[in-house]
Amino acid sequence: MATLETHAASTKQNGHAADGRIPVENPATGQTIGHVPDMGADEVARMVAEARAAQPGWAAMGYEAREKVFRRARKWLVDNRDRVARTIVEETGKTREDAMLAEVMFIADSFGYWGKSAPKHLKDEKVKSHSPFMFGKKLMIRYKPRGVIGVIGPWNYPLTNCFGDGIAAMAAGNAVVFKPSEITPFSTMLMQECMREAGLPDGVMQVATGRGQTGAALIEHVDYVMFTGSVVTGKKVASEAAKTLTPHSLELGGKDPMIVLRDADVERAANGAVFWSMANGGQICQAIERVYVEEPIYDEFVSKVVEKTRALRQGVPGEAGAVEVGAVTFAPQADLIEEHIRDAVEKGAKVLVGGHRGPGPGRFFEPTVVVDVDHTMKLMTDETFGPVLPVMKVRDEDEAVEKANDSRYGLNSSVWTKDIAKGERIASMVEAGSTCVNDAVSNYAAQELPFGGVKESGIGVRHSAAGIRKYCHAHAILVTRFAMKRELYWFPFSKRNAKLLERVLVLMYGRKP
Ligand code: NAD
Repeated sequence: MATLETHAASTKQNGHAADGRIPVENPATGQTIGHVPDMGADEVARMVAEARAAQPGWAAMGYEAREKVFRRARKWLVDNRDRVARTIVEETGKTREDAMLAEVMFIADSFGYWGKSAPKHLKDEKVKSHSPFMFGKKLMIRYKPRGVIGVIGPWNYPLTNCFGDGIAAMAAGNAVVFKPSEITPFSTMLMQECMREAGLPDGVMQVATGRGQTGAALIEHVDYVMFTGSVVTGKKVASEAAKTLTPHSLELGGKDPMIVLRDADVERAANGAVFWSMANGGQICQAIERVYVEEPIYDEFVSKVVEKTRALRQGVPGEAGAVEVGAVTFAPQADLIEEHIRDAVEKGAKVLVGGHRGPGPGRFFEPTVVVDVDHTMKLMTDETFGPVLPVMKVRDEDEAVEKANDSRYGLNSSVWTKDIAKGERIASMVEAGSTCVNDAVSNYAAQELPFGGVKESGIGVRHSAAGIRKYCHAHAILVTRFAMKRELYWFPFSKRNAKLLERVLVLMYGRKP
């Protein structure tokens, strides 16, 4: 179990004392479970320097040796699953099921995926050129680790969306300095113990605990920033990174639409809507945050989601099977959820289930279903990040797509229909980084698929070849093996050569279109 002593020991492993300390709360009980140092810019700079010194040795070990470390880390994680899951549950207030499946199991899977796929995604790529000037030359792309990657994470998935993003970075041969959320720092700190016991060389993984200032300090020193968090902070990160032209990717918020067509399996759609809007208390970047249902099945869908939401148990997460919905992790989020409901009701929406904060001493918000909603309401336009399901009736599929795309976000989305061809056609009309047909969110587990947002939901992707290549410098190499003493277009210039080159130009590009 993640005790205060464990946290203190992990903090010490960072090796850097600090004056200021940040209290960490269990949001389901309101109790303080530990403290972490609020690290300043000097400490961050020192950590990055240590990581930079350790990185070449780690890169030189090669893919096979790194995969072995990951395999041992995976075994440690599975052996210590109870301790890790409890740490996550304590600092987030989420259910044990969410911690075990979406964090522990996901990370165990990630160790295997990146360990195996890194050499495939990053092997030298031979390139054939269309250009006549490349005749006889060998061209290739060599993926070289960038050096030190800074990973800045959010509080809703402290393991998956913080430590998880470092696995690909380390698989590529980089060192990583993590800046977990100050709300949920312990899970990432615990992984330091995991990685050390798995044989990760000293210095390759560092954890800088602290608030936003600590994250901002990290950006200045690292070679790449992987940020997951809100749109507001993402924009600050991008502008901070611009000062040093540090490349970055941003995985930001969402307002994911669900389109339920008249020929959908209503029972499955209702189960999916309730699960993917209420799982982890709705605190999933790609949670279903708004539903558009075609008129003929609207009443049936609404009555099913109301009945299923009423049946959910909420409370302090304990052992497996105890509750379906846990706490609101971040205190200001509860105010924001309340404000979205208040705004919607003032503008004519009707709350069919829930709609209020739950009883203390922990911080809860009741699983909620709202109807008679429209796009004048914050509940339909801004990220709510709570256990709230607003459902809107639409005339037809055209209106559903138009409403789904009427958003500044574009993370995930879903279309529900028994007609698969229609589902695929409508999926491609939705402006989002990903779209599921007859499911939602689960595409995240297919790490072969890129995951990222369009519009204000982000820049860049995680997962897939692109999700590891971003942690590398794509070094283009041209080799001239058999060559003349000089190329035709080198000095000295002559009329003969100029004419010859012009002839090549006309021959190659001067044909009639
Ligand atoms: P946040 O933006 O408040 O904080 C994220 C991290 O940024 C924290 O570690 C914080 O300390 C740090 N930070 C704050 N100010 C900073 C600054 N100026 N410079 C550098 N770092 C700074 O986000 P949050 O509230 O922790 O997380 C919830 C948000 O994350 C939601 O919007 C959710 O949708 C989003 N999210 C997105 C994804 C995705 O994959 N797209 C995944 C999980 C969460």
